[in-house]
Amino acid sequence: MPGRGPPVSCSRSGTRLGVRVRIVDASANPGTTSRALGVQARTLELYRQLDLADAVVARGYRVPAVNLWARGERAAHVPFGDIGADLTPYPFLEIFPQDEHERLLIERLTQLGVSVERPVALVQLREEPDGVVAQLRNAAGGETSCTASYIAGCDGARSRVRELIQMGFPGGTYRQLFYVADVEAAGPPVNGELNIDLDEADFLAVFPLADRGRVRLIGSVRDERAEHPETLEFADVSARAIEHLGLQVRTVNWFSTYRVHYRVAEHFRRGRAFLLGDAAHIHSPVGGQGMNTGIGDAVNLAWKLAAVLGQRAPERILDSYERERSAFARRLVATTDRVFTFATAQGAVADFVRTRLAPLLAPAVLKLEAAREFLFRTVSQIMIDYRHSELSEGTAGGVHGGDRLPWAATQRADNFAPLAQPCWQVHVYGIAPPDLRSWCAARSLPLHVFEWQARHGEVGLERDALYLVRPDTYVALAASPASVDVLERYAGTRGLSLGGSSPRTASSTLE
Ligand SMILES: Cc1cc2nc3c(=O)[nH]c(=O)nc-3n(C[C@H](O)[C@H](O)[C@H](O)COP(=O)(O)OP(=O)(O)OC[C@H]3O[C@@H](n4cnc5c(N)ncnc54)[C@H](O)[C@@H]3O)c2cc1C
Repeated sequence: MPGRGPPVSCSRSGTRLGVRVRIVDASANPGTTSRALGVQARTLELYRQLDLADAVVARGYRVPAVNLWARGERAAHVPFGDIGADLTPYPFLEIFPQDEHERLLIERLTQLGVSVERPVALVQLREEPDGVVAQLRNAAGGETSCTASYIAGCDGARSRVRELIQMGFPGGTYRQLFYVADVEAAGPPVNGELNIDLDEADFLAVFPLADRGRVRLIGSVRDERAEHPETLEFADVSARAIEHLGLQVRTVNWFSTYRVHYRVAEHFRRGRAFLLGDAAHIHSPVGGQGMNTGIGDAVNLAWKLAAVLGQRAPERILDSYERERSAFARRLVATTDRVFTFATAQGAVADFVRTRLAPLLAPAVLKLEAAREFLFRTVSQIMIDYRHSELSEGTAGGVHGGDRLPWAATQRADNFAPLAQPCWQVHVYGIAPPDLRSWCAARSLPLHVFEWQARHGEVGLERDALYLVRPDTYVALAASPASVDVLERYAGTRGLSLGGSSPRTASSTLE
């Protein structure tokens, strides 16, 4: 629940963007199960702003390759190698279990002076002209009310915030039942790589975890057993992993079954309430996108709330949250649906495609650089763009307003280094005109001038053009030539005050 001065009457904690927040969680303790494993490259890029990326990379595990198994044999081995090495500082698949991830975030919040209050549940919500009033219930049943400027509902698939703002959550539930198990094991699939078994009418994936000898299994449960999930045990579903992959299980640390839903909230905002993460969208875990998408939602909304609360942007900028994030969520649900349907489809043709064709075709297709790059861009979430947003304008070179700023590290400079500051900034690759320098300096708007290198052109940047970069590192405005007028008009028509939002002073540097 973020707020500025009055009308906030909640406990006050300062955060990086200067917004006081109160975080309540209905559960008594942080999660203890691994759930989301994959942390995508785009999440790590955004985490760099919060000084979290290095910690996630250090504590997590980089998966070097994927193996496809069919009919009890390893049919294909695809090393991830350097897929994406030119695209992002994080060109790998990072495994970092969600429970450890949550602990890291809580540690970091504590350092910032924010504690997660638990068990404290939101029970009621009322909107008033200048704030929201949340009714909160503690473990003893005592109720208090909290007034805040806004409420961010990050309360999961069964969101109480969503229910209280009466927001529809249309979609459905897949027929298949899945299981998840964290086990200590030995055998061929415990090789530090991702192993996927494509079988007739079945699906099984074995994910490596940082501790050698521990793996996570995700598999589908055969129809006849799926009718009574409450009675299922690991022994009921593990035969396939044992027979097909030669897995020798020593200890089962966690076993659970779940059904996969696909739903997107009708809107991500009603008045002063926002929906983020699973409260706004849920879909199949295929591709490891769920948690990452929720983090992307939070990054998108956080700087906008901070700008509005700091009176550096008009309230209407908050509408762009839904426009930017729901478009991606809807696409994601459709894409994961296609992959999920392929992975679990039944019937002779589906079996043939999955167990005979896919193991043959996958390695051949992935030898093509374009195919590897497309796959990496999609799964890593670096291809998310907000071109259709009202905050996006212009084109310079191959870069449009709304694109993620392309990464260009040269021997002289890494253009992502200044993005560690979550503030508006201007980038010029080449020469910045003097009037632009003085315009930025007068507004304490950081200007980063990079000596032109061939690499900048290769990633789509245009020499001497102007790129206005948002606090969440997406390009807001791309303009060629670099003109102060266009920058002024961009900010003026949107009522944005671009400078001075960062603790860092303005810079005009050659990098
Ligand atoms: C088996 C499995 C594997 C997955 N694998 C991946 C993966 O590899 N990669 C990936 O990106 N995603 C994955 N996901 C999805 C991922 O776990 C979710 O997308 C993610 O947990 C959503 O986070 P969230 O914060 O939105 O919701 P949740 O994690 O559900 O958290 C919601 C929080 O809100 C609290 N809450 C609920 N109601 C109230 C209330 N009334 N008042 C106060 N607090 C409340 C809850 O206590 C909880 O702490 C997987 C999911 C599953 C089940």
